[in-house]
Amino acid sequence: MLTQYHIEIMLASLGGRLSPRAMSVIVQANINQDRLAGQIGHDEFHFDNNAFDKSYAYIGEQRALAVSSLKSGDADSAWKAFGRFLHAAQDFYAHSNYITLWVNRFEGKSLPPPPEVDPMDPDLIHSPDLRSGKVYYPFELLYFFPRTRALSLRILPRDSHAWMNLDSPEQGFKFDYAMHAAIKRTVIEFEKMTGGFSEEMCRLFLDNKNR
Ligand SMILES: [Zn+2]
Repeated sequence: MLTQYHIEIMLASLGGRLSPRAMSVIVQANINQDRLAGQIGHDEFHFDNNAFDKSYAYIGEQRALAVSSLKSGDADSAWKAFGRFLHAAQDFYAHSNYITLWVNRFEGKSLPPPPEVDPMDPDLIHSPDLRSGKVYYPFELLYFFPRTRALSLRILPRDSHAWMNLDSPEQGFKFDYAMHAAIKRTVIEFEKMTGGFSEEMCRLFLDNKNR
């Protein structure tokens, strides 16, 4: 997803739950995953290239790091790890065909509106048809420039990131479903992580005292 949408997802899902200071560190760590050095060779940051196992392992590892950092009183490292793995969880809906598989279930019926999307349907998450966009370098780079976007789409196959992504509203109606799924998933990840926190860890992580 483009940076502005990651920020929008973070505010829509977690705005008001943590202090502005905490939110700022988390959001910065989230969007920093899309820096150039985080794009190349890091499929697990973005659920690219069908790297599902690697991406889930990355989320688990960063979640564990967030928890261990908090236990040692280091909220800053915990916020950064949380922001990093939320980026991956959000990109899942933009870079895989999860939303397409969900929408396709309603063929011939009326499609529920985007806020009703289910972000965690186990049958779809484990579907043999689940795929994510392959990144074909260097042609994929042409996709990011307006002048060469059409050319890149002529060159790149249908299973490429360029064809499959739901990174912005330009990609059509499914983008709204990806946004709502990412917002809901972010709340789920927040609740999953903080659910196991002690009172002291909650105080450190939410940072509410400093408001
Ligand atoms: Zn990304």
